[in-house]
Amino acid sequence: MWYSVQWVFSSSYTDTMAPATVPSSSSSTPSTALPSTPITATVDPNDTIPPPSKPVRYERDYTTLVGYPISFLIIYSIYFIFIRYRRFFPDVAIPVATTTTPSPMSSNSSNGYTQQEEGSKQLDQQQPPPSMDINKRQHSTIYLILRRWWHYEFRCFDNTFRLGTYMTLLALSGLHSLFIFWPFFWGNNNAAAADTNPFFRHQLISNRIAQLAVVDMAVVVGLSVHTSILWRLIGLHNSSMTLPWHRWFARFSVFGVVYHGCFQWTKHYYRHHLAEPLHQLDALLLGNAKDIDVADFDQSGMLLSSVTWWDLLVSNPRYLTGTCMVLCLLVLFLGSHPLVREKWYGVFRATHVVSFLSVVVMGMWHHWAFVVFYVAVIGVWLVDIIARWRSMRVAPVVTLEVVADQVIKLQVVLEPPRRSSCRCRQPSQHSRQTRELPLLPGQYVFCSFSGTKWKDLLWSHPFSISRVDSLENSPTESSEKRMLTFFIKVYGKQTKALYNKANIKENWPTVRLGSPLGHAANNCHWTDIYGLYPVVVLVAEGIGITPWMSVLHSLIMMNSINGNGRTTVKHLNIIWTVRDGNMIKPFINDIEEMMSTATTATNSNENGDNGSAFHIDWHIYVTGSTASHLDEEQQSGMASSTTMGSNTSQRHDRNCHYQYHQGRPNYTSLLESIRLKHDDKDVALGICAHEESATVCGNLARSARFSHANAYWNVRLERFDL
Ligand SMILES: Cc1cc2nc3c(=O)[nH]c(=O)nc-3n(C[C@H](O)[C@H](O)[C@H](O)COP(=O)(O)OP(=O)(O)OC[C@H]3O[C@@H](n4cnc5c(N)ncnc54)[C@H](O)[C@@H]3O)c2cc1C
Repeated sequence: MWYSVQWVFSSSYTDTMAPATVPSSSSSTPSTALPSTPITATVDPNDTIPPPSKPVRYERDYTTLVGYPISFLIIYSIYFIFIRYRRFFPDVAIPVATTTTPSPMSSNSSNGYTQQEEGSKQLDQQQPPPSMDINKRQHSTIYLILRRWWHYEFRCFDNTFRLGTYMTLLALSGLHSLFIFWPFFWGNNNAAAADTNPFFRHQLISNRIAQLAVVDMAVVVGLSVHTSILWRLIGLHNSSMTLPWHRWFARFSVFGVVYHGCFQWTKHYYRHHLAEPLHQLDALLLGNAKDIDVADFDQSGMLLSSVTWWDLLVSNPRYLTGTCMVLCLLVLFLGSHPLVREKWYGVFRATHVVSFLSVVVMGMWHHWAFVVFYVAVIGVWLVDIIARWRSMRVAPVVTLEVVADQVIKLQVVLEPPRRSSCRCRQPSQHSRQTRELPLLPGQYVFCSFSGTKWKDLLWSHPFSISRVDSLENSPTESSEKRMLTFFIKVYGKQTKALYNKANIKENWPTVRLGSPLGHAANNCHWTDIYGLYPVVVLVAEGIGITPWMSVLHSLIMMNSINGNGRTTVKHLNIIWTVRDGNMIKPFINDIEEMMSTATTATNSNENGDNGSAFHIDWHIYVTGSTASHLDEEQQSGMASSTTMGSNTSQRHDRNCHYQYHQGRPNYTSLLESIRLKHDDKDVALGICAHEESATVCGNLARSARFSHANAYWNVRLERFDL
C-alpha cells in the first residue's frame, strides 16, 4: 500500500514538475534506456528518437503461485510428521515404565495418597491393586520448556494471545515476505526492470502479493471444512484447530487483495489522468513504462482520458471483478467481526455464504489462477457439505424439559446408521468392548431444529454430548440404538425457541443431528486421554460442564464394567463455577444416577466388583444467588456436614465429596492444593471455561512447578466458540 501511495505521489510530482525526458541516444544499456521515473508528457516530435534498444519489460511471472504452495506443503509435512511420530523421538517423551499387575501406581496408592480424603482412602484399601497398563512417560526438560512457552497465553484487550500462534504468524509473514521480495534478492528479469523504473517495482510487489492471496484464499476455504476424510488424514481433524487458522489466512488474503486492488486503482487513476493525452506511438516508444494496453486508446490512437472513478472501477472485466471481489471481502470481513457474530449470528452466516460464493465466481472470472486453486478446494468443500447433509439424521425426541432456569435437557434417540458410511472411523477399542459408549467422550454434534434439511444444513448449532446410553443389547455396535443427552442453555434465538417449546410435547421440534466432531473424532489416543491418568481435573464454568459430563460418564462406565479398572484414574476433581445455584441440581442428579447405575451393573456381575473405583471431589462455586442451590436431600446431608467457613459447606455421598462455596474460585490456590495432594503424579486437566480462567489454569498447569520430570499435566481445552 505504501509503495502504491509513494508511487502515485512520486509520479504526480513528475507529471507536473518534470517535463518529459527522452531516452538519449547515448543510452546504451537497457537499464538506462528508460528514465527512472515514469514519463507522462508528450514527446517532442523535433527530437530524433533512436529506436529503443530492447527495452526492459515486465514479464508475467507465476513463480509465487507455484513456489508458495509447494513450500507451504513441505513445511506442513515436516510439522505433521513430527506431530504424528513424535513418540519416536526419544528426546520428547521417554517411556518410564510399562508394567502389568501390580502396577507401581496402584501399589503406591495406599501409602502414596497420605493426604487424600477419607472416602478415597477407604476405597483404596477395599480395592485390590488394579491390573492395568501404565505408560508413564517422562518428558524431557527441553520439551517441557518448549511446551510451556509455545502454549503460553496472555490476555490483552479482552483477547487471548498464544505465544506459539504468534511465532507461527511471524514465520508465515516471513514466508510471505520471502516470496514477495525474492526477485530483489536473487534477481531476475523483472527485478532488473524494477531497478530501472519504480513502477515495475510496485507492479512486481503487487502481482506477487496477489498470487499469495490467491493461494491463501484457497487455504481459507480448505480450513473451513468440518468433516473431510482427506483433512483427517493429514491431521486436521478438529474445527477448533483449523478455524483459528482459517481466520488468520483470511486476514492474510484480505490484506493481499486490498493491496493489489489499491495498486491497480492508483495505477489506472494515474494512467487516466495524464496532463495531456498520450499518443499510442509515444507510449510504444516509451516501452511499457506505464503498462499501457492497446485497449486504452481510442480509434484515432489517442489515450482515453477524462475517465471518472466509476470507469476506473468497472471499465473492463478485470477491474469490475477485482472491485467486486474487494467489496465482497469487505462485507465478509465486517460480517465476521466478533461484534456481529455475537449479536447477529444469522447475519454472519448469511454474509459469509453469499460473499464467499461471489468471491469464487468473481475470482474465476478475474484470473485463471483462481480456477486452478479453487477447483480443488471447492471440491473438498462441496464434498464436506454433501457429507454433512447426508449424515444429518432425524433423531426422535424423548425428553425436552426445563431442568433449571434457562437450562433445557434434551434427550434424543439416535437410530443406527443406515450404511457403513456413518462415522468414517472405526470405533475405538474401549467403545467396542463396552458398547455403552459408541460415541466418544468430549465430542459435540451439530443439532438443528428447523425441520427442513437444507435449512438445517445452514442453521445448525453445536452442542456437546453429555451422555450416551445404549437402548438395546444389539449384537453389533453399529446397529445399536442409542439415546443422547444434551444440556442446553438459552443464549440466542434458536435456544430461546427451544426453551419455549420445552415441556409441551406437541410443540417439540424435529431434531436433526450431524456426525460427532471434536478432539476425539479421529484420534484414538486422545480419546482415552482422561482414562490414562491417575488424577483427572476438570474445570468448568456454567454450561461448560457438558463435555465433562460425557467424560465422567465414560470413566464411570469404563471402571464399572471391568471392575478391575480399565482406567488408571483414582482421583477426579471437578471445579465448577455457576452463576445460578439452581443449575447444579440437575447435573449432580444425573451424575449420581450414572454412578448408581454403574454400581448396580457391576454388582450384578459374577465378579461382584465394586462400581466406580475412583473418588470424585466436587468444588462447586456459586457466584450469584445461593437461595436454592441445594435441594432438600442435599440440605439434609448438609446437616451432618462440616462447615468450613461462612461461605463454604461440604458433604459426603458414597465416593463423592461435595464442597459448596460462595464466590469465584481462586484457580491458582485450588490447583496448587490438588498438585500438592497428588505430587509426582500425572494429571489430565480438562478446561471448558471463559478465556480468562482457561488462560490462568492452562499456564499454571504447564508451568515448571506443575509439569516437570516426575509429573506431567496434560491440558485439553474445550471452547464453546468455533
Ligand atoms: C463445540 C461447542 C459445544 C457446545 N456445547 C454446548 C452445550 O453443550 N450446551 C450449550 O448450552 N451450549 C453449547 N455450545 C454453545 C451453543 O452452540 C450456542 O450457545 C448456541 O448455538 C446458541 O444458539 P442460539 O440460536 O441460541 O444463538 P445464536 O444467536 O444463533 O448464536 C449465539 C452464539 O452461538 C454460537 N453459535 C451459534 N451457532 C453456531 C454454529 N453453527 N457454529 C458455531 N457457533 C455457533 C456463536 O458463538 C453465536 O454468536 C457449544 C458450542 C460449541 C462451539
